[in-house]
Amino acid sequence: MSDNPLSIQELGDSFVDYRQPIWGNSYTWSWERPITQVQYLVIHHTVTSSDATPDDIALFHKARGWGGIGYHFIVTKDGKVWYVGDIGTARANVANMNEKVIGISLIGDFTKELPTDEQITSTHLLCKFLVETASIPNVKSWESVVGHKELGSTACPGASWDKAISGDMWWRIKSNTVYSAPPPQQDDVYKVTFKGEVLATYEFNPEDKIKGLDSKLKTAGDEVSRLTSENASLTSELNQQETDNGDLLSQLRESNTDRDKAKTTVINLERQIDVALDKLKTQEITIEALKSQTPITGYTGWQLIGEGISKLFKRK
Ligand SMILES: [Zn+2]
Repeated sequence: MSDNPLSIQELGDSFVDYRQPIWGNSYTWSWERPITQVQYLVIHHTVTSSDATPDDIALFHKARGWGGIGYHFIVTKDGKVWYVGDIGTARANVANMNEKVIGISLIGDFTKELPTDEQITSTHLLCKFLVETASIPNVKSWESVVGHKELGSTACPGASWDKAISGDMWWRIKSNTVYSAPPPQQDDVYKVTFKGEVLATYEFNPEDKIKGLDSKLKTAGDEVSRLTSENASLTSELNQQETDNGDLLSQLRESNTDRDKAKTTVINLERQIDVALDKLKTQEITIEALKSQTPITGYTGWQLIGEGISKLFKRK
């Protein structure tokens, strides 16, 4: 069982060895690791209310299914440094890297606020002690002091930890530069106020939303105009087709009339043919009747005439 009592002169009464009193079993929950494995001092924020205590944090961690407190140190708003987990033990504060880290967590939610001046100063003194005085062979410079997000996929400990920005939280802890500026406001929250009273808050700028809707409305208006124009064009085409249809209908009527006239003509011709046929038949009957009378056979016309003449002469 690791038992590394620490004495940090610079912190004076602000340093509290709370390994034994803290809720849960700080001493035996966790596992032993040689101090030579430690490479990083990892800064976290607790993402809790400002008045959360080390025992509250231990309860939260227990509720996550861990044996007890996952950090080694907790720094409260008043600048008190609580030694809650022996540095000779690996605990639970950076996934897959717990043997390599000493976890230092500052009470607060640094996505919404910044550490207090007291937290900055005490964290500075604690890290300075661990880097310069404590016998941790692989932690010998401020480069070993990292934010949780540098080792894993997390926002911890908030946007103000960003080594690309000069004067970020790391730089302030290293140089013990306290804050004098007020905590930054969330500019992504828009408020509608009336006589000083906040009536509504939005995560977006309502004016932007209105502009967006105006733009959508204009697009819809353009579409309506386009469709109206298309409709007019189609109506015009339809009218033209109706006119064409009227012409065709009229032509059809004319040809129907012509056809009817031709039919009448044919009927009349048929009648005339019938009449002619009747006449023909009558003539044929007459011819047949004439044929049926006894013909004068054996003589030609001239013979008959000659016979007649000879008869005349005989009479004389
Ligand atoms: Zn963290």
